[in-house]
Amino acid sequence: RKKDRNVAGMLRERLPKKLLALLKQAGELGQQTGHAVYVVGGFVRDLLLKHPNFDVDLVVEGDGVAYAAELARIYGGRYKSHPKFKTAVVILPDGQRVDVATARLEYYEYPAALPTVELSSIKMDLYRRDFTVNALALHLSPERFGDLVDFFGAQRDIKDRVLRVLHSLSFVEDPTRIVRAIRFSERFGFRIGGQTDRLIKNAVRHSFFHKLSGSRVMHELRLIFEEKTPLSCLRRMQDYKLLAAIHPLLALTPSKEAVLLEVENVINWYRLLYIEPQPLVWMLYFLGLCTGLDPEQFAIIARRLNFSKRQAAEMAALRQQIRDTAQGIFNWEYHKGPPSELYFLLEPMPLEGALYLMARNPREPLQKYVSLHLTTLRHKRVEVTGNDLKALGVEAGPRYADILRRVVGAAIDGLAVCRAEQLELARRLAKGEPVAPLLARQPGGDR
Ligand code: ATP
Repeated sequence: RKKDRNVAGMLRERLPKKLLALLKQAGELGQQTGHAVYVVGGFVRDLLLKHPNFDVDLVVEGDGVAYAAELARIYGGRYKSHPKFKTAVVILPDGQRVDVATARLEYYEYPAALPTVELSSIKMDLYRRDFTVNALALHLSPERFGDLVDFFGAQRDIKDRVLRVLHSLSFVEDPTRIVRAIRFSERFGFRIGGQTDRLIKNAVRHSFFHKLSGSRVMHELRLIFEEKTPLSCLRRMQDYKLLAAIHPLLALTPSKEAVLLEVENVINWYRLLYIEPQPLVWMLYFLGLCTGLDPEQFAIIARRLNFSKRQAAEMAALRQQIRDTAQGIFNWEYHKGPPSELYFLLEPMPLEGALYLMARNPREPLQKYVSLHLTTLRHKRVEVTGNDLKALGVEAGPRYADILRRVVGAAIDGLAVCRAEQLELARRLAKGEPVAPLLARQPGGDR
């Protein structure tokens, strides 16, 4: 067998010093304990692709859990093990996470007098993975540091930019790999190999997806929603009839596509504002994918995707809140309400709901109003504090909240702009004195 390619130079060039030192340390620890240690998977793939990826997945040919405990001890970090799977996660003091797995030594006993063969366990470990490009490993031991382990032609596939499964039963073993194929293909601009493409179509034709648990489907969908181009991934899923295979109600329709496109626009718009916190992007796409479903249909999807009762109820309530709020905003516009009313309509809404409203109503003033709320109204602060109210003799409770709310409303509408005015308004409200004269000015709000 020809000598393995060595990429130690690449590691030195591309990795932060700390991470390089960690990999060396990991290899030395393996040597001390007599076990080969490899870094595997996405880390190696992305190294060859020149994509930064600092998620370290180690495979140990030996007791991975004991190894992880020792690694944690050396660095003064923490670790958590899953003995059942012989895996562990080490968290170093600087926050770096290291996943450790065990490659089992497998012995193949031949009948009669033939000797028992020990198959290279790293090869078995890599063979269980999804695509050739994810089935690369790097030696970390000091004498072989940086040697590439490529049993399945991954380097060639990376060069040809193609995704291939390792064997023809891959999608039978795990249909979620179909979604992963699309995700990686979109992310890296790789095509899906001819044989792999046929295997996907075959898997869809034979409804492998029906057997798949909802939680696993949802997990892969979330990963899709967190990619840079979820909509193009969803379109590819649609081309393979995968969405309908998960559930017919999930298939893309022209109106869903239009909303999903706007979801993408709205997310990009919001990102550029640099306002914390950022929304749960997956939730926005998920709402988009469920556009047009009535509550019963949505409940069916929630069951198919194995949402907990609580999750399903929360999501259904959010969908209802979105509809109600849209209606509220239309009414507000119709009777020309003050800005504060818009604020109180949108204020209880989670950020995802507000952004979804914008995506759902792109060409209507509604989008403009929600954006006014997100960029301006919701950041308004009043200068009256709880202590002020206390000093006025108002104890915490519904009355307290009510007074504060009215001061906020007056501030947003430009009727009580400075602290003195706000305090005077609070005082009159607290004492039950008339406030009308105070609020009679021409409003100078933000509408
Ligand atoms: P990402 O950049 O999305 O994290 P990754 O390749 O690191 O990409 P993970 O989902 O973290 O992806 O998985 C780590 C590795 O585990 C993969 O590189 C792959 O080798 C293997 N793997 C993950 N899921 C599967 C699966 N369903 N079937 C087979 N192998 C898998």
